[in-house]
Amino acid sequence: MNIRISHIAYSISLKKIILLFAICYLLFAILCGCQNRRLYKDTRLLMGTFVEVVSADERAGRIAFAEIKRIEGLLSKYKEESQVSRLNKLGELKVSPDTLYVLCEAGKFWRASDGAFDVTVGPLIDLWGFTDKKYRLPDKSKIAEALKLVGFGKIIIDEKNNMVKFTARGLKLDLGAIAKGYAVDCAVKKIKQAGINSCLINAGGDIYCLGDKFGRPWRVAVRNPLGNKCSGYLQLKDKAVATSGNYEQYFISKGRLYSHIFNPQTGYPVDSDVVSVTVIAPDCLTADALATSIFVLGKEKGLKLAKNFPNIEVKVIEKNCNK
Ligand code: ADP
Ligand code: MG
Repeated sequence: MNIRISHIAYSISLKKIILLFAICYLLFAILCGCQNRRLYKDTRLLMGTFVEVVSADERAGRIAFAEIKRIEGLLSKYKEESQVSRLNKLGELKVSPDTLYVLCEAGKFWRASDGAFDVTVGPLIDLWGFTDKKYRLPDKSKIAEALKLVGFGKIIIDEKNNMVKFTARGLKLDLGAIAKGYAVDCAVKKIKQAGINSCLINAGGDIYCLGDKFGRPWRVAVRNPLGNKCSGYLQLKDKAVATSGNYEQYFISKGRLYSHIFNPQTGYPVDSDVVSVTVIAPDCLTADALATSIFVLGKEKGLKLAKNFPNIEVKVIEKNCNK
């Protein structure tokens, strides 16, 4: 009888010890997990917008900001010494491989969109006051004058010699619809080279999601300009997303809204039923340029254009969208 009691007591205390070990192990695992699950978030004002970098690797922000700053130094029309500013001033310039690449890509989107995407809209952007933020409704004659200086076909790109040349005085490049996307791609490349495989970069709505976030896709909220239930969340992994819309940069004159995205054929801000276009693409340059192109073309022609590009998803929000 005695023997049985001590056997039971022994097995109970063994169970307790095992349970204690299990609890300790669990606590240890949770604590370690919490430590590894820390995300670093940092924000800088670059390329005229807030750029946010989120990663479990502390180095990601520093690497991304340095690279985006480098691209801004080449492509921003607001930086006097940038290649785009010098080209706009001189009408001819030997450019770096980055600038040449972006101009060639801009040319591809110009051709694919039948001229709807055109980075030579600079004179129109200036005329309507979107450059100096002194918005104005110009005379028709002024618009016609500016239109004579718009057209990607009016610039010559000599890829062999890295030379870019304007065929008329007064032409002006504005890479606002493609440069941020390219900068994000360059930052992602640098981050990968540093051995970092998980990161989210958001340059004012031009976003790249590298890898995943602790085993799950990154969750990106799509802003709904209409304040109804049209948009939601995207789950992204190794994908870019960009949105073009008429709800962030615009002015209202005589009851009409004029946005910063122009129809290069008419010289007027795009006026359509589309409020915003979100494009998910394998790279951010494509997402950025395609979102603007589709916004200019409108839903029907825009979705047709998107079909020419591989692995693209498009979400269009229309004015009458109230589902
Ligand atoms: P954002 O950069 O504000 O997110 P977009 O990517 O759509 O939005 O780019 C809009 C910018 O692109 C404008 O501010 C202007 O600099 C330029 N742009 C305007 N119209 C066109 C166009 N038809 N083709 C190419 N670029 C354009
Ligand atoms: Mg764009």
